[in-house]
Amino acid sequence: MLNRLLSFLDASPVNFLAVEQIRQQLEAAGFTRIDPTQPLPQLEAGAQVYVTKNDSAIFAFRLGRKTLGEAGFKMICAHSDSPCFRIKPAAEMVGEAGLVRLNTEVYGGPILSTWFDRPLSIAGRVLLRTDNPLHPETRLLHVKRPVMIIPNLAIHFNRQVNDGVKLNRQKDMLPVMGYVTDQLEKDNLLLHLIAKELGVDKSAILDFDLYLCDAQPACLCGLHDEFISSGRLDDLSMCYAGLEALLAAPQNDMTQVLAIFDNEETGSGTKQGAASPFLRNMLERLVLAQGGTQDDLYRAIEQAFMVSADNAHAFHPNHAEKADPTNHPRIGGGPVIKFNAAQKYASDADSASVFAEVCRLAGVPCQKFVNHSEIAGGSTLGNILAASIPLRGVDMGNGIWAMHSARETGAAIDHIYCVKAFTKFYEV
Ligand code: ZN
Repeated sequence: MLNRLLSFLDASPVNFLAVEQIRQQLEAAGFTRIDPTQPLPQLEAGAQVYVTKNDSAIFAFRLGRKTLGEAGFKMICAHSDSPCFRIKPAAEMVGEAGLVRLNTEVYGGPILSTWFDRPLSIAGRVLLRTDNPLHPETRLLHVKRPVMIIPNLAIHFNRQVNDGVKLNRQKDMLPVMGYVTDQLEKDNLLLHLIAKELGVDKSAILDFDLYLCDAQPACLCGLHDEFISSGRLDDLSMCYAGLEALLAAPQNDMTQVLAIFDNEETGSGTKQGAASPFLRNMLERLVLAQGGTQDDLYRAIEQAFMVSADNAHAFHPNHAEKADPTNHPRIGGGPVIKFNAAQKYASDADSASVFAEVCRLAGVPCQKFVNHSEIAGGSTLGNILAASIPLRGVDMGNGIWAMHSARETGAAIDHIYCVKAFTKFYEV
């Protein structure tokens, strides 16, 4: 199970590729694609379908033995995106000695310094010209070798470097891609690379959404291999736990849903993000495809339960002062339910009771997280989704260290616990 997670993390350097990985595994398990531009077919109980949005969000449904209106649905949601760097248009910056840097901008909230001195690659999607200007062809790209690096400044030029450094995103964070002397190559360095990787002509490339990514694979570490070290544990580890659970769980009276949204790290406000009406619309269409009515949609929502799965902060042994005095979620201590009095998290006593019971039935320990009262915490999907679908639900996630570092640390056993808990959730 852990090797599958590590392989998934390595094959998913950015959102688009993570969604493609999930899509392929759903297909292999017998889920069929819904084309949202076409009328939905008549769907029988037990039907397994999925739909994608923008190639970066994916929603899978296993219809229940009872209709959505009769029994509602159980949903696990997570997000496909992680903080990183997006490559800007006209990105090549050729300087002295032919050194080529790439112009980038920051996506989400990464810990910038963790991107220094790390072999990096490029991944994302490329749009190619077709006969129809409204429908260019999408091709995914993952350059599977390190092609650039963001070099640190030597300590000799900044003796205070270990006292903390303010980093300039436009100056300090630009990756160096190589040095070139050939004028033709200089002008088209990136396009040249893309065309070669995809085996297409440069003139066919219309545009791209490409990002920098860590070129080093995920791994287990620790004396007993108790830790997972990888980029994008937030939130791909939760996406994958949800997928494993959906594929393992038996059919239920209630419909089982896995919802992987994009753009959580920038506020969820896109057509493929949690604030979008896309999922609500799709649920409505499924209700109608079962022969139900608008009222059946409302009945489905009122009976539903959501697990909003996004990683939590595990107690950091070097920074006990940052933790709440009495609640110390331990790395390796099982799934963490997240609470916030200002309601940045969906959890309340009702929904937390449900999830804790599910964990108990799965034989999995369960922990609780609250912020230190002087520290503002993050937010996540649950409450944003509630604006379009008012769901009863809980915010939870596995505890990790160094959230938003280029390489985060989680616990191997927590992944196993989480898959067990999620599978039980879909089952009960
Ligand atoms: Zn997250």
